[in-house]
Amino acid sequence: MHSAILQNGKLITAMEYIKELHGSQIFCLDPSCKSPVSFVPGTDSVAAHFKTSGKGGSIHTPNCGFYKSLSFQDSVTKVSEYQQVFKNKGLNEIVIRMNLNALDPDYQSKTVEREDNKKEDKEDPVIKVKNDNPTPQTLNTLKAVKKLFTSNEPDLLASILISIKGIKLPISYLIRNYTEAHDALWAENLNSNLPYFVHGTIEKVIRREKVWYINFSIVDGRYFSLVVFEPYFKHFTYKDEQLIGKEILSYGHLKKNTFTKSRESTEMQIKSNKYLAFL
Ligand SMILES: [Zn+2]
Repeated sequence: MHSAILQNGKLITAMEYIKELHGSQIFCLDPSCKSPVSFVPGTDSVAAHFKTSGKGGSIHTPNCGFYKSLSFQDSVTKVSEYQQVFKNKGLNEIVIRMNLNALDPDYQSKTVEREDNKKEDKEDPVIKVKNDNPTPQTLNTLKAVKKLFTSNEPDLLASILISIKGIKLPISYLIRNYTEAHDALWAENLNSNLPYFVHGTIEKVIRREKVWYINFSIVDGRYFSLVVFEPYFKHFTYKDEQLIGKEILSYGHLKKNTFTKSRESTEMQIKSNKYLAFL
């Protein structure tokens, strides 16, 4: 654990912790756990951190985010919970810039890219992440997003703000289960200028002449499809059996399909294999 709760309820990172100043009564930050933890000073190979001793009461409870390693879905849920609980309560801020323009097969003009970068630099100075931080400074691929989530603890992930298109957002705002993404879109609670990450398990693939639909399972009348249009067929080479039944993370802009009036249906256009990562 990178952070813990002091006896006065304040959050502290292991980097900032001083026993004489903060006292030795420190606790797991997960609201469902709050077990006593102890401080482990940093060494050349391992950063300072907090941990349970495994003895007596010093053990994480089953619902704690540190009880066991989390699935992608559970990790996103915990990160979102911590971000809400610790908002404005001294949660560290690590800013990571995200630019996934290179995923787009249409995105070839280097000039445009350069101008975009220049613009971003001006509007949005990147706060340099300390070298001893295990997170990257930029995210340029879906694999990097997946790796970030699968190789870091939820308290560290909760302190990440994603800098995208000149604004900074908690990482959990951009990554959602497809049913949550669907609900937020239809309740007008999404920023239509931003791309989102959705995750779920693929149930069905429908290949028509001009369009392919990759469908998540229908939950309580929510229809959700990833859509590949004909010009991009050549960039999307996964076969049905590589997709069906697989849990994936995908990236793109969300759109209501208003064509079918009788039901609420959400679409995310994807253009190549790079828009998917298998979880
Ligand atoms: Zn705990």
